[in-house]
Amino acid sequence: MLEKEHQEKEKGLSCPSCGSFSVQGGFVEIEAGRAYQRMSCTECDAKWRDVYELTDRITDDNL
Ligand SMILES: [Zn+2]
Repeated sequence: MLEKEHQEKEKGLSCPSCGSFSVQGGFVEIEAGRAYQRMSCTECDAKWRDVYELTDRITDDNL
């Protein structure tokens, strides 16, 4: 395993398995106030999901 602290700091940018930045974002699943994005690493072929939570809402009058 690589250094845990480094992985935590780079969370969401690098592979949780090998630490590579060669990650690809895939299919996004959305549910109430939360979304999951399927991610994969092109270096070691690890797969995981990134979780996004709704934290704010901005109204856009131009829409
Ligand atoms: Zn990897």
